[in-house]
Amino acid sequence: MAEIIDGKKISAQIKEEVKEEAAKLKKDGITVTLAVIQVGQDPASSVYVGNKKKACEYVGFRSLAYELPQETSQEELLNLIGDLNGRADVNGILVQLPLPGHISEEKVIQAISPDKDVDGFHVQNAGRLTVGMEGFVSCTPAGIIELLKRTGIGICGKECVVIGRSNIVGKPMAALLLRENGTVTVCHSRTKNLAEITARADILVAALGKPKFVTAKYVKEGAVVIDVGIHRGENNKLCGDVDFDSVAEKASYITPVPGGVGPMTIAMLMVNCLQSAKMGKKG
Ligand code: NAP
Repeated sequence: MAEIIDGKKISAQIKEEVKEEAAKLKKDGITVTLAVIQVGQDPASSVYVGNKKKACEYVGFRSLAYELPQETSQEELLNLIGDLNGRADVNGILVQLPLPGHISEEKVIQAISPDKDVDGFHVQNAGRLTVGMEGFVSCTPAGIIELLKRTGIGICGKECVVIGRSNIVGKPMAALLLRENGTVTVCHSRTKNLAEITARADILVAALGKPKFVTAKYVKEGAVVIDVGIHRGENNKLCGDVDFDSVAEKASYITPVPGGVGPMTIAMLMVNCLQSAKMGKKG
């Protein structure tokens, strides 16, 4: 039976570390500040935004909440981002996705200053990751690397398979595993013989967005299985992309849903905000 990787516990440790650092910055007169923009009132987005505000409060950051109506124009949103880009007291800017259909997510993401792009979605930060330069890294994959490291799971030389190639999870995940000297394969919806490839993995990351898709046949005996998916099933119960019960029988380590990757995303957002404030301090 697999050992559970406790994302709740590890994310709590990280938040404590951030809290200490934030208190030190406060002594130097710097209050780390994150601006969070939400357009419309999508209920899931409201929950995510609420959790981000709570995390800011907990670690001693200031959060500025911009709750804009659904009919906000792209121009209005871009103007707000422009203002926030210019404010020295704002360290991080986050626009909660998805945006209403009349607004281009790409234009909005690229309008955020790369120095305040604490989500790590700007093309400059994605490029920096690819060529091995410092920059903000997308929070979910960054959190997965922390989960592995803090659980004592080595990545160097391991066969790593990532299912999914999105810009926010799959691709940065692959780049980070490569940076850690894993041997990385990326699978997607056109991949042939998926189970044959995933069954080679020492570390398997499932980020395909299909509830309980990854069953035991996709997993090698003793593999480490990281479940990125979040789905709300019947009776409002959360599940991931991995069929936890069957896979836990075969894996050596597994992340649960909830309580695995999810809490790490917000913890890493706090880490990125702190990093931004420290960069600002250096000037
Ligand atoms: P996405 O943009 O929908 O990307 C899904 C990826 O999976 C695509 O690359 C797609 O391939 C691939 N895929 C879909 N079906 C497949 C199949 N049958 N076999 C192999 N590959 C397949 O999703 P995402 O934004 O990366 O998110 C993935 C999951 O993680 C979702 O459940 C999401 O809710 C969750 N998530 C969780 C967190 C967290 O904090 N825990 C954060 C972000 C996302 P193509 O490219 O060929 O279409």
